[in-house]
Amino acid sequence: MLEGKTAVVTGSTSGIGLGIALSLARRGANIVLNGFGDIETAKAEFAGLAGVRCGYHGADMSKPAEIEDLMRYAEADFGGVDILVNNAGIQYVADVQDFPVEKWDAILAINLSSAFHTTRLAIPGMKARNWGRVINVASAHGLVASAQKSAYVAAKHGLVGFTKAVALETATTGVTVNAICPGWVLTPLVQRQVEARAEREGVSIEEAKRRLLGEKQPSLQFVTPEQLGELAVFLCSDAASNVRGVAWNMDGAWVAQ
Ligand code: NAD
Repeated sequence: MLEGKTAVVTGSTSGIGLGIALSLARRGANIVLNGFGDIETAKAEFAGLAGVRCGYHGADMSKPAEIEDLMRYAEADFGGVDILVNNAGIQYVADVQDFPVEKWDAILAINLSSAFHTTRLAIPGMKARNWGRVINVASAHGLVASAQKSAYVAAKHGLVGFTKAVALETATTGVTVNAICPGWVLTPLVQRQVEARAEREGVSIEEAKRRLLGEKQPSLQFVTPEQLGELAVFLCSDAASNVRGVAWNMDGAWVAQ
């Protein structure tokens, strides 16, 4: 279904980004991975997929010049970007009066501004080919708030707004722009919050997971990177060509409450 297309997935060395990259690759898309950590292990996941090229660029998504270099790499080595998944993101938890200024700046840069930079650089090629998919990984926190997450909630609400604006700008073209809004997914980003909660409340990791889910996610189950990957595949399909400017929650009914 996606043979011959190239997907740039930011922050795809673990968690949701890796799950989405794998789902797209299983449909034949070439993949440009990005992110930090164990790159060889991430790349190895793609080795068995026939006909799929997997590249990597280590751009720090808080740095516009490095983002430009990532997009130039995709253009030069893969012939352009057909699918852009803006997924890189970080979290920090504190009351606003205690929120470190550098953490605010980093969250806004990585979770929001990076999507502006990749998108502004990808859209001209997508428009020229009259086909493109931009998928912004927002969050349930792009739709509703939680205490102590002011920077994250601001960035994710911003990302949803950005999605709508660019969807309008591309509405008469073959380029669609949408956001995905996951609830809790058990990735390293959330594992750290589970561990902090277990420590703070003096309970086991399993009990901390139950409390985390019980507080927000009525399904009482984590959403998985694989499920989010399949949602991204649908958004890339022809059937989704009129899905534009949505913020699609996959959150075990979190925002239904
Ligand atoms: P994760 O920590 O497993 O993965 C984050 C990825 O981003 C990693 O590949 C990491 O190397 C990369 N990254 C971090 N800083 C970067 C930087 N400066 N430059 C380039 N890459 C960078 O986290 P995850 O849970 O998979 O999160 C992925 C996205 O999903 C984030 O945008 C997050 O906000 C969002 N999200 C996560 C959840 C959840 O429950 N896990 C829920 C809703 C939304």
